[in-house]
Amino acid sequence: SVAARAIGLTKAYGEGEARVLALDSVTVDLQAHQFTAIMGPSGSGKSTLMHCLAALDTPTSGRVFLGDSNLGRLNDKKLTQLRRDRVGFVFQSFNLVPTLTAQENILLPLAIAGRDPEPGWFDEVIDTVGLRSRLQHRPSELSGGQQQRVACARALVSRPEVIFADEPTGNLDSTSGSEILRFLRHSVDALGQTIVMVTHDPVAAGHTDRIVFLADGRVVDEMHEPTAERVL
Ligand code: ADP
Ligand code: ADP
Repeated sequence: SVAARAIGLTKAYGEGEARVLALDSVTVDLQAHQFTAIMGPSGSGKSTLMHCLAALDTPTSGRVFLGDSNLGRLNDKKLTQLRRDRVGFVFQSFNLVPTLTAQENILLPLAIAGRDPEPGWFDEVIDTVGLRSRLQHRPSELSGGQQQRVACARALVSRPEVIFADEPTGNLDSTSGSEILRFLRHSVDALGQTIVMVTHDPVAAGHTDRIVFLADGRVVDEMHEPTAERVL
């Protein structure tokens, strides 16, 4: 099934002389329970595509679906609910709350939504990311790789339909980066998670099921079952 879909998605920023066409009629389906990478040169529209799919940004024209929901049909309140309840985010810069422990950070989105984790699920996520012994640490007491694992656990714990990850390994050394990739891969294979990841890194993209390549705001190519060697 399709987890997220763009049809003729166009996004322009600015007006007149300053107008930039960030996305130019992009049509793409992202399959559920798959790990998809979005690659392309800087300025090719990767972040804009991800932001439109995640309801963080509104298209200039075209349609975006998350599952069966046509985002263009939802009012602001419904969009806020959708971002809170149905999507998860992982950023290059971790974006943890420095005054909260790892456990509090992981549970924060659920706390904000007034929800409890499903029984057993918090423990499964913690064991998957290997954070059991770090739950009471604050972000400043954790390595970069551990902080990103906290951020991944935070995204996973609410079981979102799609996790959007923007350069999740961009600030990590290769050892911590490959830990995060193994963990993201595992969350797709073993937990059925759907992940869409923007990356510049062929090694990172080599862990995915499919790469969608953008250039100048258009989808120009794709690759199934990629390997780092083929991406290079
Ligand atoms: P990528 O993620 O591939 O680097 P982006 O989606 O960030 O590409 O940007 C695509 C194009 O749109 C670039 O030319 C960028 O400068 C422009 N752009 C992105 N966001 C904005 C914005 N908020 N205002 C104006 N231009 C933007
Ligand atoms: P990335 O490496 O993820 O593309 P950028 O540094 O290009 O990140 O963009 C970071 C944020 O700034 C994005 O949310 C993007 O939409 C916005 N942005 C990018 N280009 C511009 C621009 N020319 N003017 C205003 N905002 C921009």
